[in-house]
Amino acid sequence: MFEGLAEKLQNTFKKLRGKGKVSEADVAEAMREVRMALLAADVSLKVVKDFVARVKERAVGQEVLESLTPGQQVVKVVYEELVALMGGTSSKLTLSPKPPTVVMLVGLQGAGKTTTVSKLGLFLRKQGRRPLLAACDVYRPAAVKQLQVLGNQLDLPVFSMGTGISPVDIAKGAVEHAVAHGRDMVLLDTAGRLHINEELMEELKSIKSSVRPHEILLVVDAMTGQDAVNVAESFHGQLGLDGVILTKLDGDARGGAALSVKAVTGCPIKFAGMGEKPDALEQFHPDRMASRILG
Ligand code: GDP
Repeated sequence: MFEGLAEKLQNTFKKLRGKGKVSEADVAEAMREVRMALLAADVSLKVVKDFVARVKERAVGQEVLESLTPGQQVVKVVYEELVALMGGTSSKLTLSPKPPTVVMLVGLQGAGKTTTVSKLGLFLRKQGRRPLLAACDVYRPAAVKQLQVLGNQLDLPVFSMGTGISPVDIAKGAVEHAVAHGRDMVLLDTAGRLHINEELMEELKSIKSSVRPHEILLVVDAMTGQDAVNVAESFHGQLGLDGVILTKLDGDARGGAALSVKAVTGCPIKFAGMGEKPDALEQFHPDRMASRILG
């Protein structure tokens, strides 16, 4: 993950770190390299421009810390700005004061929704919660079965009503079932499509208005780079997202989506999928991610 970006930035900063004195030209050269590295990682041009401008401004009119060399100070500014770019602090799920908390996962087909619903169920159970998974994807062949199989493997209950019924009714049924059986979280696995279309959005809006989820999270494939960000913008505009789950960050994702989503949409990344296994879901921490990138 982020190998290309990390390697480039680390090379740039190796040169700077050792310097006792850093000239404006040194900063300009380093920023040119940072700009190239971010663009190659598929970060959007506007995000890159703003980022570089902020770093330059702070690095040149630098607050001087005696404990650091000027080179180290530039690196520190880049680190802090990377953390800020990804949202600053990590964002948790909002829990309803009155259980169950309803979390609706949305996204395009193949993004990793169904897998992520089960991963999130496992994650929440480890935190002492009692999640119920709900199979609301009545279109993709075998989606209901897939969720049932995953639920079985992890010993997590799955609410389903087959595929001959509207997803809105399944979502409502799931919430009622959770109330009746003392489940404090309901995770809705909704249908995706290959592309965003009106039918998909209308269905998601109907589910939203009928069960009023406390969290609507977009599951999006990090490998798709700027496309992931465009998808996020679109879903956010139509549905109002509370956060994003980036999947497949373990693959050769170049990092663009992780770095741009918050800046472009304003939605925080809440979780990151790091593999196909059920326990490969991590809470997203901007500071840890920035440290990984800068080494
Ligand atoms: P859905 O159509 O959005 O419900 O997508 P699925 O949950 O069926 O996932 C599509 C594929 O992506 C499956 O093969 C998953 O195993 C895989 N997948 C999901 N999340 C991750 C992840 O974080 N890393 C990797 N490497 N694969 C993932």
